[in-house]
Amino acid sequence: MALGTLALSVMAQENREADSLRHHFGRQQVAPVSRQPGTQYADTLDTGNPGVKVVLYNNGTYRYVKDPSVVAADSVFTECWDTSNVNPYREAPDAIPDRFSLWVVDTLDSYVCPNQTRPRSLFGYRHGRRHQGIDLPYPTGTPVPAAFDGKVRISDYIGGYGNLVVIRHANGLETFYAHLSRRDVNSGDWVSAGDIIGLGGSTGRSTGPHLHFETRYKGAAFDPSWLIDFETGTLRHRLFKIRGWYFNPNQRYVQNVDDEDEIFRTDEEDRLLAEEQAKKEAAARAAAEAAAMKYHKVRSGDTLSGLARKYHTSVREICRLNGIKETSILRIGQRLRVR
Ligand SMILES: [Zn+2]
Repeated sequence: MALGTLALSVMAQENREADSLRHHFGRQQVAPVSRQPGTQYADTLDTGNPGVKVVLYNNGTYRYVKDPSVVAADSVFTECWDTSNVNPYREAPDAIPDRFSLWVVDTLDSYVCPNQTRPRSLFGYRHGRRHQGIDLPYPTGTPVPAAFDGKVRISDYIGGYGNLVVIRHANGLETFYAHLSRRDVNSGDWVSAGDIIGLGGSTGRSTGPHLHFETRYKGAAFDPSWLIDFETGTLRHRLFKIRGWYFNPNQRYVQNVDDEDEIFRTDEEDRLLAEEQAKKEAAARAAAEAAAMKYHKVRSGDTLSGLARKYHTSVREICRLNGIKETSILRIGQRLRVR
């Protein structure tokens, strides 16, 4: 009875360990995820990328998680960080390169469409006034999801925007959600794609309920339609190739500019593609390692040397795999990795 309770508390502790790594970044669509009832956290593996870990479960399934401490320390979340200034970047608009590329979603990041709909008002000048985003029909009170994983920079009532939430993403992009009737996040919160950040509304300079959605890079707005096809709700690119002229305040999205991509693929794009490939290979290696792993639940009478014989390994290897000493006392119910 007491031993059963002990084993349960050990498992609870181990699950907390896995959960602390997952933070708010657990959502992902690419890697296999399995968390069936009874699945227990087994181990955490490095992938070669310090920001990415693999969490293994004792039924051989695994998932990728971002290490929140590494993500949070990234300079993208500390430099030009201002919780009230809509554009804290002091960058001249022409400092943005003519061509560059960003991962919008990679193996670990996900995307949720803010609203699959025909946009009501487009990017560009409108009645002589600059319109830096796109307006999506949005009945008051409709939950608004974050489009990508990131950290909330602004959650405030700001002039014509009304209730505004600005989220900064790891690739440096920011997304703006304006005219909200309610804000459900605070500056500094970490959100995953799909997390509800507030409710649609008509606050600020607005003639009726809608979501004003902006996408910006270093403070410069570009038509969100370059990134998202709102009518189908799909993301147009995983690797987003950006041209400097997208930031022209009157430049709306146009189709078919991607045709020249293969010819003009830059060194940077090659590097990014190679990085993504390396990440996938690390994932495959981790999966192979996960499949080869074996665990033993300590029973009364078990000893390290006995387990080494039983699993055709050595005491030293079991100690290495579990980070314990050869003199460590085994607890009944303790799970030891033996391979
Ligand atoms: Zn608008």
